[in-house]
Amino acid sequence: MRDVPERRAALQAGRVLAMAGQGDMVWGHVAVRDPDGRGIWIKAPGRGLEEVHDRDLQLVSFGGEVLDGAGSPHIEAHIHLEIMRRNPAVTCTVHSHAQAAVAFAALGTPLLPISHDGALFGGKDVPRFTTTGALVSTPDLGKALAETLGDAPAALMHRHGLVAAGEGVHAAVMHAVLLERACRVQLTAMAAGPIRDHSDAAEALAKRDQCWSDRQLRAGWDYLLRRADQAGTGQDVA
Ligand SMILES: [Zn+2]
Repeated sequence: MRDVPERRAALQAGRVLAMAGQGDMVWGHVAVRDPDGRGIWIKAPGRGLEEVHDRDLQLVSFGGEVLDGAGSPHIEAHIHLEIMRRNPAVTCTVHSHAQAAVAFAALGTPLLPISHDGALFGGKDVPRFTTTGALVSTPDLGKALAETLGDAPAALMHRHGLVAAGEGVHAAVMHAVLLERACRVQLTAMAAGPIRDHSDAAEALAKRDQCWSDRQLRAGWDYLLRRADQAGTGQDVA
């Protein structure tokens, strides 16, 4: 078949997420929209984010059917399918079980812009999916999650993990990375004492545009990809 750059991007995204500490053994996944509108490129179940080869990728239709690749799709492929169905501009989605996100969600406290990472939401709290903490195993649950995410860069999935989306693989992956870091920083601060200072809404909005422009997101992604390449995690297209 002809080369599909999105396949390479899906492999790179998995390696970068693992490098950023979002791996959870063989659970969690990233999806890249097929450029011809056939569905999403996503890894098959059973392999970690950083150990996926080209042969482990599947093309999954918006109906949940595997059009290319072997085996069944991830049971939670609905997360990606429904977010992309809802928002045609989104070309990449991430779902991970990042531990800091899970721990922070359990506190039920607003995510505050106490760092650059936290300014990603422009001074608003992060959206939270609370309908279920179990697997997003049906199209209806996927739709509900997509509604919760809306046009935000990322959302917490209470008792489960996080989801992120973006126009470009670099954006979706960086949104996931930034949310996890924002949760981790706030957990650290709260463990030490009450939070006494954070950006107000105006500063958070300004910082979001300043710190997290598309150019900055791409620079962060490029850095993480270099780190993943240096560490030799996983394989690229073979
Ligand atoms: Zn999950």
